[in-house]
Amino acid sequence: MSSPLKVVITTIPFIDWNTPISSPAYLSALLNNHGVDCVGLDLNIEIYNKIKNDPLRNLYLDFFYHQKIDAKIYKSLSDMLYHYAKKILEHRPTHIGLSLFTHDSQVFTVWLCHLLQKIAPKIKIIIGGPGLYTLSQKKNVSFPESLRSSGLIDHFIVGDVTSNLIAYFKEGIKESNMNVVAQQDLEFHNIVTPNYDHYDFFNYEHKRLPIVDSRGCVQKCEFCDVIEFWKKFQYLSAQNVFSQMQELIEKYNIYRFDFASSISNGNLVEFTKLIRMIAQYNRGKVFSKQIHWNGNFIIRKKGRHTDLLFNDIKESNGRLICGVESLSSTARIKLGKNFTNEDLDDHLVQCKAHGVQIDLLMIAAYHTETQEDYADALQWFETHKNYAGSVITRVQMTLLGILDGTKLSRDVDLKRFNDGREAREVHANKLYEKAKQCGFHVDKFW
Ligand code: SF4
Repeated sequence: MSSPLKVVITTIPFIDWNTPISSPAYLSALLNNHGVDCVGLDLNIEIYNKIKNDPLRNLYLDFFYHQKIDAKIYKSLSDMLYHYAKKILEHRPTHIGLSLFTHDSQVFTVWLCHLLQKIAPKIKIIIGGPGLYTLSQKKNVSFPESLRSSGLIDHFIVGDVTSNLIAYFKEGIKESNMNVVAQQDLEFHNIVTPNYDHYDFFNYEHKRLPIVDSRGCVQKCEFCDVIEFWKKFQYLSAQNVFSQMQELIEKYNIYRFDFASSISNGNLVEFTKLIRMIAQYNRGKVFSKQIHWNGNFIIRKKGRHTDLLFNDIKESNGRLICGVESLSSTARIKLGKNFTNEDLDDHLVQCKAHGVQIDLLMIAAYHTETQEDYADALQWFETHKNYAGSVITRVQMTLLGILDGTKLSRDVDLKRFNDGREAREVHANKLYEKAKQCGFHVDKFW
């Protein structure tokens, strides 16, 4: 039965990301499945494109990140807000859902809500998503509460929005489902295929569709907030992910996918089945009609990932994003990631033998590393430079930050951590230079 409600859910800038973002696509599919008329939009990409090569890009970023408004962009910001509102309102919604991917979406949210209240005061506004809070603020949901108390929004859901959102619309706008901190839902609703019907694929540099194949993680890195929020590791079956791929290929003629999860091989049995299905699907097809995928991938103990699995990863056109964190086995295992440098070497040998390409994610100078570890890390790039480009196509280096609510934040000796900051930065810069000298493509994030 069709519903009198009309819901529009959209992403909110600024998300520095040039492929489709899945939350509106999943939530709209989910609500549609429950008989609620809902459109999912990724309007962030329009802002991304607008400022991508703009000489005033940094001024725009200052607005999004710090709410600083330079006179040079004032008019343009106003146009941007009106454009955003127009794109939402052209669907004539009764309800608008604003999905905040990170904290960096908060500034635009406030401004957009002011505008929407002014030009369409009767439409209900609901906000949700990880950008509403950090873990330490879980009990003090000040950002959404302040918006609600000032009348800018009608409702918010902090945490896992899925069940509460469905219940809100299904149970006659029952408000007890709103303005809550929702725990991880035991039902993993991503079993629905995301609906990208209202995404304009011409907007994206890379046409890749995200599929959320799991939530949470099976590892226990002390610095990670994913495992603090998604306490339970939830995953879809290989058959379900593969069916979603088939449906999306048929509908959109797009063969490239991102597994939008923290870990694609958390359940090794299902992952192995899925990669086999994709490899078989690809066989005999021209390259442009073969499935390609990217996924976060955990390296395991030598031998756990078989020769056959690497072969299927290659044939399924998989590209692996591997979090190595520290280049010291001792520091890595102590922080909660259970593989040694010998296991890492085995992984690299397998990737090379099968022609699998990987990105390495690295924390340059983990806080428990010693001077000897620093020297070993520099040497590691020297010893492994034969992998630069051909196997390791990119190294992403970050510095360690302490995220609220994590094990690290609870256990760390803060004085020692802060005292060591300068030395870590010095080493991180040396490591960055060394990796580049050894021929690696390195992106550093500090
Ligand atoms: S592997 Fe990644 S997602 Fe999993 S606990 Fe470690 S940092 Fe978090």
